[in-house]
Amino acid sequence: MSEPAQMIVQIRNTWHALLPQERALPRSRLYDLAPYEIETPWCESLTGYINRLGWTHHIPPRALVAQEIVPRLDERQRLAVPVGVFGTKWAMSLNGAGVATKPWIGVLSHLTSREDLPLLTLPFWVGDLSPRWQLRETPAWCPCCISDWRANGQPLYQPLHWMMRVVTLCPQHQTPLIDHCPHCQKCQLVFASRKTQPGECTSCGHGLGNDMNMHSPQQVSDEHHTWQEWVWRILQELQATCSRTGMIPWEAFFRHLAAYLREQKGHSRLARAAGIDRTVLYRWIDPADTYSPTLEAILKLCYVCQVTPFQVMNGQLDPRQLIVQKGTELCPPLPHRQNRRLDRERCLEALHAALDDKNEPLALSHVAQQLGYEDARQLMYHFPEECKLVVQRAREYRQQRKVQRLAQVRENIQQVVLSLHTQGIYPSLHKVQFFLPRGLMKSPEAREAWHAALRDIGFEP
Ligand SMILES: [Zn+2]
Ligand SMILES: [Zn+2]
Repeated sequence: MSEPAQMIVQIRNTWHALLPQERALPRSRLYDLAPYEIETPWCESLTGYINRLGWTHHIPPRALVAQEIVPRLDERQRLAVPVGVFGTKWAMSLNGAGVATKPWIGVLSHLTSREDLPLLTLPFWVGDLSPRWQLRETPAWCPCCISDWRANGQPLYQPLHWMMRVVTLCPQHQTPLIDHCPHCQKCQLVFASRKTQPGECTSCGHGLGNDMNMHSPQQVSDEHHTWQEWVWRILQELQATCSRTGMIPWEAFFRHLAAYLREQKGHSRLARAAGIDRTVLYRWIDPADTYSPTLEAILKLCYVCQVTPFQVMNGQLDPRQLIVQKGTELCPPLPHRQNRRLDRERCLEALHAALDDKNEPLALSHVAQQLGYEDARQLMYHFPEECKLVVQRAREYRQQRKVQRLAQVRENIQQVVLSLHTQGIYPSLHKVQFFLPRGLMKSPEAREAWHAALRDIGFEP
């Protein structure tokens, strides 16, 4: 090694020796913002934390994501970030065990010098289960919580349990969590936009609290209440255990359940009671099968058996506890998926808003989703005329856009052909496509436009 190179190594080693002292006084690019209610069931969510980090720096959370986080991801991760990441299901996956969670937390920890950010994600609450079906597609919230916090001067934030599918009632107020704005009927973006402040709708900016009594109370059955109370109790137990012992491994749960069922039989009855397909239950307990059940399915199974997941993990599957095996009726009935009563006024309002909207018309399926329905069938049944108009308007808009797009394509091709021709270059397909978006010349319309442009300058008959 040359003398200067040796010197560089020496200097670097000296700096490395000093690094531990440097770490004692870290200087982060962003504020060292402490997450709310960490290691409690009211723990803040990671996406909620990112929103709050943006608001604290007086910049839109979206800008924080676009300018500070995404550019610091490595190239592979950066390319994997979809366009329109701010409001999507993809962004919600950051709160769970998604592939992007770790790299994003790495960047955020570097920017804030905080090492506790992994605790804002579901693996550090519910353990190493499959992330499938754990998170909602868009954030939900409790209007009463928002109003209470605002009235008491408490900070507004987005707890992690608002993002979980299995939590449908607020544990504090026992009222349903909602996922669409009562003013504009839209779902909330995961990362808030330019104009939005905490506790405001990310689309129309109206408050999401219950101050104006905008939220029509939904009827919640006693069954549903009992189920949700039990779910919350179990989630508290999981959270407390995770805080004490670290991430919870579920291997023992499946091992003990398999051993018990091998001994006692009765798979079919248990599957039926828990609302699980019998063949799927076999897959749960087959160690060779990589299938991993959802948290909700596991909780339902435990609920009908009146055991907690920890009892199963510890092998406390007393035959009296697995009451389904005995065919007794002691187990509490599982709530069926609530058949939501149709709110005619709200539906009509949303359909008329979609028809009056001067912007890009919404597809009927989007209107239905904003109203909280899985598909548009119920709307079609009750409001056929309005739905027909919404569908027709969206179709006409699509056709109009297609015509505009084709006209633009024709014009661009014509310009490229002419430009090459005036430079004395033959405008071959190969030459022309070099100047246009990749793959464009594969479409028949583009080919036709190229032939037409060649005809115009006399190269084709
Ligand atoms: Zn609440
Ligand atoms: Zn709104």
